[in-house]
Amino acid sequence: MTLLSCRGLRKEFGGHVVLDRLDFDVAEHEVVALIGASGSGKSTLLRCVNLLEEIDDGTIHLDGEHITDPRVNPDKVRQRIGIVFQAYNLFPHMTVLENIVLAPTRVHKVPRATAVATAREWLARVGLADKAGEYPDRLSGGQQQRVAIVRALVNSPRLLLLDEVTSALDPELVGEVLSMIRDLKSEGVTMVLATHEMGFARQVADRVCFLDGGRVLEQGPPETVFAEPAEPRTRQFLSRII
Ligand code: ADP
Ligand code: MG
Repeated sequence: MTLLSCRGLRKEFGGHVVLDRLDFDVAEHEVVALIGASGSGKSTLLRCVNLLEEIDDGTIHLDGEHITDPRVNPDKVRQRIGIVFQAYNLFPHMTVLENIVLAPTRVHKVPRATAVATAREWLARVGLADKAGEYPDRLSGGQQQRVAIVRALVNSPRLLLLDEVTSALDPELVGEVLSMIRDLKSEGVTMVLATHEMGFARQVADRVCFLDGGRVLEQGPPETVFAEPAEPRTRQFLSRII
C-alpha cells in the first residue's frame, strides 16, 4: 500500500529551483534512502513532506489524504509524520523524559500519564530506560540522537523522516544510531532517510533514490543502484563518494 505519494513537487527559494516536478512514493513499511550531492534537495524534500516548507506546486498525499490542501491543519499532519534532524535538538533544560512527553502532552493533548508510560516503554525498547531522568548534556551524542528519535516515535507516526541523523556524531557513536534504525525497520516503521552513509543505505534501505536536478533521477534496490547505476550522473556521484 502506498503511504506517501508526492506528485509534481516544485519548490524554489528566491528563483533557485530546488525541487522540479519531483515524483516520489513510499509504500507502507518501506525504508527509502535519499542520496544525492549536497544541495540536491534531500532536506528540502523531507521538510516539504512534513509541511515545514510550503511547496510552490504539486501535491502530497499521506494515507490517501491530500495533506498539501490549504484547508488541512499542518499540526495534525505533523502528528502523523515524525522528523529528526542532524543535530539532536533536545531541550537542554529538560530531562530526557520531559523532552519526550512535551509535544504529546502540550500539542497533542495526550494525558500526561499515558505520554509518560509510552515514553518509558520506548526508552526501554531502545536501551535507554535508565536515562529518563537525565539531562541531555549527561548523555553521549549517540544517546541524545536516540532520544530525539524516540521523541519522534511516541506519537506513533505513520512515517518517520530522518535527515542525516548520524552526520553530527563522532564515528564511534554512529553505530548505535544505525542499529536503532535497523531495529525500527524490523518493527515495520516506514522511514525515509537522507544519508551520506552509503554503506548504511545499502544495508538498511529497501530502495535508494538518487536526487539530481530537482528530481529522483534514478531509484531501485540498493544492490542495483550501487552496483550497476544506470545514469551517468549517479555513477559520477557514487564514484566520488564511495
Ligand atoms: P541537501 O539536503 O540535499 O544538501 P537542501 O535541501 O538542504 O539540500 O538544499 C537544497 C538547496 O536549497 C540548496 O541550494 C540550499 O542552499 C537551498 N535552500 C534550502 N533551504 C533554503 C532556505 N530556507 N532558503 C534559501 N535557500 C535554501
Ligand atoms: Mg540536507
